Amino acid sequence: MSTLETQQYNSTLSQTLKRHFGHETFRPLQEQIITDVVGGRDVMAIMPTGGGKSLCYQMPALLREGTTLVVSPLIALMEDQVKALQANGISAAFLNSTNTPAQSMQIQRDAAEGKLDLLYMAPERVFSTSGLRTIGQMNLSLVAVDEAHCISEWGHDFRPEYRMLGNFRDQLAQTYGKVPMIALTATATPRVAKDIQEQLQLRNPGIYQSSFERKNLYYEVRPKQGVFQQIHQYLQSHPNDEGIIYCHSRAGTEKMAAKLQDKGIRARPYHAGLSHAERTQNQHDFVYGDTRVICATIAFGMGIDKPDVRFVMHADLPRNLEGYYQETGRAGRDGLPADCILFFSAGDRAKIEHFFEEKSDSERELAQWQLSQVIKFAYHTKCRCVPLLGYFGQEHAGQCGHCDNCQQTPEIIDATEDARKMLSAVARTGQYYGMGYVINVLRGKSDEKIQRNRHDQLSVFGIGSDSRLAYWKALGDALVLTGYMTQTTDQFPTLHLSEQSMPLLRGEVEFEMVKPRAMLKKEAGSKKHDVLDVDGMPVDEALFEHLRQLRLQLAHDQSIPPYMVFSDLSLRQMAALKPTTLTQFDQINGVGARKSKQYGETFIGAIAAFAGESI
Ligand code: ADP
Ligand code: ZN
Repeated sequence: MSTLETQQYNSTLSQTLKRHFGHETFRPLQEQIITDVVGGRDVMAIMPTGGGKSLCYQMPALLREGTTLVVSPLIALMEDQVKALQANGISAAFLNSTNTPAQSMQIQRDAAEGKLDLLYMAPERVFSTSGLRTIGQMNLSLVAVDEAHCISEWGHDFRPEYRMLGNFRDQLAQTYGKVPMIALTATATPRVAKDIQEQLQLRNPGIYQSSFERKNLYYEVRPKQGVFQQIHQYLQSHPNDEGIIYCHSRAGTEKMAAKLQDKGIRARPYHAGLSHAERTQNQHDFVYGDTRVICATIAFGMGIDKPDVRFVMHADLPRNLEGYYQETGRAGRDGLPADCILFFSAGDRAKIEHFFEEKSDSERELAQWQLSQVIKFAYHTKCRCVPLLGYFGQEHAGQCGHCDNCQQTPEIIDATEDARKMLSAVARTGQYYGMGYVINVLRGKSDEKIQRNRHDQLSVFGIGSDSRLAYWKALGDALVLTGYMTQTTDQFPTLHLSEQSMPLLRGEVEFEMVKPRAMLKKEAGSKKHDVLDVDGMPVDEALFEHLRQLRLQLAHDQSIPPYMVFSDLSLRQMAALKPTTLTQFDQINGVGARKSKQYGETFIGAIAAFAGESI
C-alpha cells in the first residue's frame, strides 16, 4: 500500500471500530490480525478468553465484500453473538435447528442476495445439503472457525463434527479461489495449536498468539476455613457483583446454591445432571442478570457469553490447571477487574483421587500428575502467574502484581516441629481417626470419645495447645496435600502415615509452610476500580448502580442480556464523565452509531435526573 492508502486504510479501520462496535482502540493483536485477514491471508489466532477474538473476524466481515461464514459449535453461542451484532446494527443471522422452516428460507434468501455480513452455522449444518447450497449461492468472503480447538482430539472439547472441516479448505479453494480462513481458539497448548493448523489445512497462515496473562484478574488461593462462610462473606462485601462458583460435585453445586438462597442471594445450580430445560433456564437467568451467582460443575462454561462476570470462585480444588485457567478466564472478559479465588482443603485431594480408581493406569498417571500441578500451584509462594502460564509453556518473569503473593509477600514458617507432633499424634492414636480428632488430641481438647479411648493419657495430648485450630487444620491439610500423610476417601476420612512420613518424623527433612493469612486482606471494598477513572474523573458508584438498574430494565424490555445494551465498562465511564450531550455520550467506549441513536437520550436523561435528585 502507498502511504496515502495506508492512511486511508487506518482511518477506515478506526472508524469502523468506533462506528460499528463502539470501541476506541484495538486490543493487542486485533489490528494485525484484521489487516492480515482483510488482505486475504489465512490466520490462526490464539488469544485468551476475553482477548477479543470475535472482532478479529467481525471487522473483516464488514470490510470485505460479501458474506462471512462463521462456524461455531454451540447454538447458544451463535444466538448470543448474532443478537450482539444486531444490537450494533450489523446484519447477521444464524442457521441452526432452532429456526423455523420459514426463517431458514428467509435467511437463505438473504444470504443469496448478499444482505448478510455474517452467517453463523454449526459444522454439521455446513455440510448438510441445504448448508452447502446456501454457501454455494452466497458471495463467500471469509470463513471463520470459532472455538477451533474443537477439531483436535488433544483438546478438552473435541467435537467429531469439527473433523468434517478437514478438507473444507480445499473444497472452498475449488469453488471460490482465494477465500481466507481464520481459526480462533483460547486453548494454548502447542500440540492443539499445531493440530488445528494441520487439520484445517491453513495455507501459510499468519500465526498470532497473545500472552495468556490476564492482567485484570486477581488470583488468590486460600485454605478452606468453613468455605461457605468465606464465600458468603465475600458476596456480602461485593453486593453488586455477579459471578460463578465452581464446585467439585453435582450435589455440591445444589447444596451451595440452596444455602446461598437461604441467605437471600439469587443463586442457581448448573450441572449435567439437571434436565436440559432447567440447565438452559439457569444459564439464561444468569446471563440475563436475573441470577446473581451460578453454582456449577465444570459442565458450565463454553458457550456462556457474559463479559461482566466479576468473580470466579472454586469452592473445591480443581482437577487440572488447564481447566482452572479456562474457568477463571470467564471472569472479567470486559477488561474490568475481577477476582479469581480458589479454596482448597486436604479432603479435596481425596475426593478427586477417588475418581481415579476407575481409570486405566496411564490415564491415572496423567490425572495424578495434573493434580500434583494444581497442588503445587495452590502452595506456590511466589507469583502465581509463573506456574499458571508455565503450564501452557509461556514464560512469565514473576511479580505480576495481580496475585495474592505479589500483593502481600507470604510469610514462610518452619513447621517441622509441629509437623512431627502431628504425625506422632496420628501414629499414637493408631492411624484410625480423622483430622478433627487428631487436632483435638494435640490441642488437649478432651471429649467423651478421647476419654473413652484414653487418648488424654498420651504424651502427645495437649502438646499443641499453644496454636489455634485454624493453624493445625492448615498444617494437617498441607501435610496431606504434599503427601506427608494420607487421608482416606470414605465417608469418615481417617489419617494415616505414608512413606514420606518417616524421614520427617526422624528429622531428616524439614517442613515449611505459608503462615495462614488472616482472612482476605481484600475484604470490603476490595476491588480497586481506580483504573477506570476516566480523565481523572472518579466513578460515581451510586450513579453506576442507578445506570445498571436502567440497563437491566432496557434489556428486559427487549429480551436481551444487559451486556448487549452496554457493558459495565461503558456504564462506569458514563458514571465518571456524566455526559450531558450526545457528542459527549459518543465518546464513551462501547457507544457506536446504533447505540448512540437508540439509547443516547435515555441515558443522558437518566444521568441528568440523577444529578438533580442527589443535589
Ligand atoms: P473472546 O471471544 O476472546 O473471549 P470476545 O470477542 O467475546 O472475546 O470479547 C470480549 C469482550 O471484550 C467483549 O465484551 C467485547 O465487546 C470486548 N472487546 C473486544 N474488543 C475490544 C476492544 N478493542 N476494545 C474494547 N472492548 C473490546
Ligand atoms: Zn503475581
